[in-house]
Amino acid sequence: MAIECLVLGAGQEVGKSCVVVKIGGKRVMFDCGMHMGHHDSRRYPEFERLLAGGGAADYTAAISCVVITHFHLDHIGALPYFTEVCGYDGPVYMTYPTKALAPLMLEDYRKVMVNHRGEEEQYSYEDILRCMKKVIPLDLKQTIQVDKNLLIRAYYAGHVLGAAMIYAKVGDAAIVYTGDYNMTPDRHLGAAHIDRLKLDLLITESTYAKTVRDSKHAREREFLKAVHKCVSGGGKVLIPAFALGRAQELCILLDDYWERMNLKIPIYFSAGLTVQANMYYKMLIGWTSQKIKNSYTVHNPFDFKHVCHFERSFINNPGPCVLFATPGMISGGFSLEIHQLSFSPHTDSKGIMDLTEFLSPSHVILVHGEKPQMAFLKERIESELGMQCYYPANNETVSIPTTQNLKINATEKFIMSCCTGETKNNLQKHGRAFGGNIPEGCSTEGEVEGILLMEKSKIPKILCEDELLHSLGMEKHLVHFEPLHSSGIEEVKHTDGSAVQQGSLGCE
Ligand SMILES: [Zn+2]
Repeated sequence: MAIECLVLGAGQEVGKSCVVVKIGGKRVMFDCGMHMGHHDSRRYPEFERLLAGGGAADYTAAISCVVITHFHLDHIGALPYFTEVCGYDGPVYMTYPTKALAPLMLEDYRKVMVNHRGEEEQYSYEDILRCMKKVIPLDLKQTIQVDKNLLIRAYYAGHVLGAAMIYAKVGDAAIVYTGDYNMTPDRHLGAAHIDRLKLDLLITESTYAKTVRDSKHAREREFLKAVHKCVSGGGKVLIPAFALGRAQELCILLDDYWERMNLKIPIYFSAGLTVQANMYYKMLIGWTSQKIKNSYTVHNPFDFKHVCHFERSFINNPGPCVLFATPGMISGGFSLEIHQLSFSPHTDSKGIMDLTEFLSPSHVILVHGEKPQMAFLKERIESELGMQCYYPANNETVSIPTTQNLKINATEKFIMSCCTGETKNNLQKHGRAFGGNIPEGCSTEGEVEGILLMEKSKIPKILCEDELLHSLGMEKHLVHFEPLHSSGIEEVKHTDGSAVQQGSLGCE
């Protein structure tokens, strides 16, 4: 059996994440994103490829389920198009926060494209609502049986509120698709967290395939220093607030700093989207970091003490202020000078290597990255971790062989032969019985010899060599060969009276 991975988006690029994995006859679509940089057919994944070859009549027949990792448009932007325009009507899964926040993101983007940029409408507001109604919400670590054979499970990704890594399993074949993730905690989110799973394939994002980032604290200090310096000199600070999640992160940072430094300068929020989102952040506090959850008993950290809503008329108010502005306000002439600092919630290359080593899959596929950096990371994964690694381009398919697990029984004697001397003594002393599991302390490495017995309609069994005859209900026979000059076979009698055939090898 093989796993086939068709990369419909985010192949050697960042944008429109969409990977379709065929596993044990099931086809799972991970993410259904749009490319923000394209305004033609390249903005969406080439879904028609799923129907190529005439295997399925429509998308509902072609795909077992769609799983969305988080609310960013490059991961969910094409979903209303896929369900309402292309007509996919099967199950769609995402976490509760993603289900709550995604419609805000989708509608905000739709309005900007249609109302402000005069673009042709790809899907309507009603389409977004109809699409979201089909979504089945997921909880973390909840095992969902999509059908009799396919199961999925979500793990905390630490990228934005509700972001998840997805485990999918059919029979013995299992994979993890990470979406975007962060291996270090920030102010409002914990670090990515996943169980150690037996995997044939890991599909990981690789945005920072070659970058090891400096400490977050240094960046935060630089940010606070720059803001403080500007407002102390009577200036106004504009902070771009289009990145949902980052705005909340920086708000917590500033609110906290304002409190500590006892600053009275106003901080404003201008983006309606962020105001609405703040409400959800307050409600979905269980998905944030442990630190935030702990402080929640005293005060909800998203109830910002020093941040208030911005009215357009405030723009001419004298005196300093901090304003979380829409990108339009920043590029539209309000800003005189903007200091650049990266607060990207993606893992760096060390984080990717750490996660890959921890999960130890047989194969790795890199998506959501730039080609040269992916090539560099592939080399590292192959040479340092000894795993085969691929970074296919869009519309390419990678086929991965899977290992098939065979359930076999083992005799007690054989299990004892795998144990070290000390464990063997303990087991014998306590007369401990073990049903199927290898006792603790048994060697899981090194070589042990045994006989694999496979009989028709019985579970295969592994046993010690001297147990074989008894198991087969046979007596011991000895076949003895002696080199003779002339060829021929003669019957000889054994001391126990049993007859054996003595063959001649005709050696000279
Ligand atoms: Zn993202």
